[in-house]
Amino acid sequence: MSRLVVVSNRIPLGDSPSGGLVVALQDALRQSGGLWVGFSGDHDRKTSAELTFQGGASFQRAAFDLGPRDYENYYLGFSNSVLWPAFHDRADLMRIAPEYLDGYRHVNARIAELMLPHLREDDRIWVHDYQLFPLASELRKRGVAARIGFFLHIPFPSPADCSTLPNPAELFDWLSEYDLIGFQAERDRANFLESGRQIAEIEPLEKGFVRLSGRKVQVRVFPIGIDAKGFIADACDAREEDRMRGLTNSQMMIGVDRLDYSKGIPQRFRAFQLMLNNNPNLIERVAFLQIAPPTREEVTAYRDIREETEHLAGRINGEFATVNWTPIRYIHRTIPRYELAGLYRQARVGLVTPLADGMNLVAKEYVAAQDVSDPGVLILSHFAGAAETMQDALLINPYDPGELAEAMMQAIDMNLAERRRRHSALLEGIIRHDVNWWSSAYLSALGK
Ligand code: UDP
Repeated sequence: MSRLVVVSNRIPLGDSPSGGLVVALQDALRQSGGLWVGFSGDHDRKTSAELTFQGGASFQRAAFDLGPRDYENYYLGFSNSVLWPAFHDRADLMRIAPEYLDGYRHVNARIAELMLPHLREDDRIWVHDYQLFPLASELRKRGVAARIGFFLHIPFPSPADCSTLPNPAELFDWLSEYDLIGFQAERDRANFLESGRQIAEIEPLEKGFVRLSGRKVQVRVFPIGIDAKGFIADACDAREEDRMRGLTNSQMMIGVDRLDYSKGIPQRFRAFQLMLNNNPNLIERVAFLQIAPPTREEVTAYRDIREETEHLAGRINGEFATVNWTPIRYIHRTIPRYELAGLYRQARVGLVTPLADGMNLVAKEYVAAQDVSDPGVLILSHFAGAAETMQDALLINPYDPGELAEAMMQAIDMNLAERRRRHSALLEGIIRHDVNWWSSAYLSALGK
């Protein structure tokens, strides 16, 4: 079996509780004696000229660090102030600067350089996400002929959004050096093909292949899943604890999102406000818990969204709170995933209303955590990749406060039979297409 080499921006460190991606790749990495390369998170010091190897229980991990300038230009700059907004339909929030693009190219070249001595001829290399588009082309320049796959965890932009990038043609040159490109949703594959047709003369071939800059590349959709079994087990454990604490399944609504402008949190708050305005009988009867941990706080657009969110929550609470009741409980901290499982389970309504999102794993976790005999209702934005496969959720347009407020009412009032019907259809999909299914499907396509 050829060795699997995974490259991603963040590397799973130490013995921290594993995310779904780690769970999914662990078996493949272990079986093949694999290697995981990623950013150590260290960006304050002089950079090291070698990867730092960390023994792991089941696979090897090798970390690279970043200097302060690289962190600024590659990570905060090109990755998160150019690519992220352009790929999430927010070109208005882009900050284009030549040093960002230079830093991005430079760091990707450096990662390739650091990896080179540790690669073997028959490795399969799997590169993850938008921070690393140029990695295959940098490896190829250095003579690597191995199979290299790419998976994009975020949406792929429309032709109009692609053309807001400083280097749209270069993006397609970078992608042409992969053997397999995986997307979250059909929507992304369609945008890639249409943008590629307009910008890079992409030529569709048979069976999901395209010709791009003279190379044959396979382009397929692999919607990522969650570790469904693990999550269901966590939610059941949490239920035992809650029983002891005497918590019940009240009319709680929950939202869980990094505090990112793509998640539609202010739109959700406004819809909640509208619902209270239209239905004063719900005062003291519903509670909205919003968990929104900090993210990328060095970037201005993220400071702005924090200000907007906190201002709005304060205003709505000021308007509707009573001595005994606060309408919006807002937590700006990270909550461990096993605790989230219990909170999802207590909530009658799960609010997943992004304006743009690659997949959105919270939507799947919310469903997996429900009590099958008395499940809650998922409200899901059309603009989450998850909407393509989760058609039994209440699908909404997050830009329309009236529609969202109405869906909240519908979810609160929904009878048990309908809740069960919708939930069992959603749960079946989540169990069948879990994260192990996803990684196996991807790796078997890459292996060919
Ligand atoms: N999450 C967490 N603690 C929090 C908030 C989120 O562990 O306080 C987890 C959540 O359970 C989910 C992930 O972070 O697994 C978020 O993934 P998603 O695809 O929804 O959004 P992303 O943050 O990748 O844009």
